[in-house]
Amino acid sequence: MPVHVSQHPLVAHKLAILRDKTTEPKKFRELVRELTWLLGYEAMADLATRPEPIETPLEPMTAARLEPKVGLIPILRAGLGMVDAMLELLPTAEVWHIGLYRDERTLKPVEYYNKLPDAATVQVCLILDPMLATGGSAAATVDILKQWGAARVKQVSLIAAPEGVATLSAAHPDMDIHVAAMDSHLNERGYIVPGLGDAGDRQFGTFAGPESVPGHGPDDETAEVVRRLQRDLKG
Ligand code: URA
Repeated sequence: MPVHVSQHPLVAHKLAILRDKTTEPKKFRELVRELTWLLGYEAMADLATRPEPIETPLEPMTAARLEPKVGLIPILRAGLGMVDAMLELLPTAEVWHIGLYRDERTLKPVEYYNKLPDAATVQVCLILDPMLATGGSAAATVDILKQWGAARVKQVSLIAAPEGVATLSAAHPDMDIHVAAMDSHLNERGYIVPGLGDAGDRQFGTFAGPESVPGHGPDDETAEVVRRLQRDLKG
C-alpha cells in the first residue's frame, strides 16, 4: 500500500507549530486547516480528468475537468476540522458522516452513526482523520465505504503511527495513505508518540484535566492491545 509522507517544507514547518504544546486551540484549528489544504492537494494529484471543450475570450480549446465525484468522510470528531479546508479545494465534494468511536479500553472501533444511502454516490472517498493511530477506525471505515460501492478510498491524516499504517495496509493493501509525518510509535494508552496529544481536545479546547494527559495512568487492557499491534508490526 502506498504511504505518502509529505516532503514539503511548509508542511514540516506548520506541523512543528501544531505539535507544540503551547499552541492554543484557535491557532491549532488554523494549522489543521492549512495542513489539510496542502495534504489534500497532494492526495488529489492523481485524480482522473476528462477533456472538455470550452471557449476562452480568445479561442476555443480543450480544457480538463475533474472526472470522479469525490466524497469526504471525516472521522468524528477530530476529522471535522479538516472538512472546510477540503471543501475549499473541492466545493462540489459530498460530505458523508460515519460515526465510530474508539472504545477507550479495547481501542476497537464501535459504529454509532451511519446514514449512507444504499448505493454509492461518489467514486473516490477521502477519509479525514488528523491521527492515524491504531488504524482500527480507519480500517472499519474503509470496510463500510467499500461495501457501499466506493471504487477508491484514500486516507488523509496529519500524523500516522507505524502500527496504524501496518493495520490499515494489512486490511486494505490497495489504498493510498497521505500523511504529513510518520511518528515513532503508540504509547500504552494508544497515543501517537511524539504526536501532538489529543487532536480533538486541542482543536475544540476540551482538555479535561490531568486524566486527559496522553500517557497518564496506563490501563492494562489498552496497553495489551498496543503491545499486540507492536508485535504484529515486528512480524
Ligand atoms: N487520537 C489522538 O487524538 N491522538 C493520538 O495520539 C492518537 C489518537
